[in-house]
Amino acid sequence: HVIVRGASKRYGSLEALCGIDLDLAAGSFTVLLGPSGSGKSTLLRSIAGVEKLDGGTIHFGPRTISDRQTHVKPEKRALAMVFQDYALWPHLTVRQNVAYALRRRRLGGQEAGRRVESMLERVGLGAKSGSYPHELSGGQQQRVALARAIVGEPELILFDEPLSNLDADLREHLRLEIATLTRETGATALYITHDQSEAFALADEVAILNAGVIEQRGSAESIFRHPATPFVARFTGLAG
Ligand code: ATP
Ligand code: MG
Repeated sequence: HVIVRGASKRYGSLEALCGIDLDLAAGSFTVLLGPSGSGKSTLLRSIAGVEKLDGGTIHFGPRTISDRQTHVKPEKRALAMVFQDYALWPHLTVRQNVAYALRRRRLGGQEAGRRVESMLERVGLGAKSGSYPHELSGGQQQRVALARAIVGEPELILFDEPLSNLDADLREHLRLEIATLTRETGATALYITHDQSEAFALADEVAILNAGVIEQRGSAESIFRHPATPFVARFTGLAG
């Protein structure tokens, strides 16, 4: 459903992405693993459209969203993003933060309100809808970000280390919620993490990135059992 071919990106003399091929099957959950600086966020931001590729193409279903002539704007890509730092609007309430994702929809105020409240119930924040982000814990803020991502029923959800600011217990709990909610919506997911247990718990497919190159793709099990390159063996061994 999402097809990336030959994606390349330079920052000055640094080659951040060196011809990446990646396929995200519709409704699948792909985890992108790799060391710091390997290009994970650059790839995710390029798929989101907040970064422009120097070369290569991205197809999203039948649409070309990025090639030499085309650069579809992020808000036209039917996707949502969830970040490590939540990126909530500090001056908006929880309810308003989630409703913001629906601003471009032609929904009646009542229908939008209903969707927002039911989404907040689903992430266990029904009682916090009038609170401001600074009045919430980190885990609660990330649930708001998750609700905001999902409420618009995007076809693709991009996660950039969404749990890395949270403690271990909460991480395990929230990753379960992320998996459940994402699968319920039928969205395709691309999820960046450093955490191999997250990769195991979430991934239909894992892609290992190293210095702008995908070293291996496959099920988590196949990668950890049969690393294809010395780098993958070292990386999965070390971080495991
Ligand atoms: P981390 O795990 O630390 O988040 P990452 O795999 O997400 O790392 P990227 O953020 O994609 O890595 O960065 C890849 C490389 O590109 C790094 O060397 C980084 O310094 C460089 N880079 C990223 N964004 C920019 C930018 N806007 N300008 C210049 N260099 C950049
Ligand atoms: Mg990153």
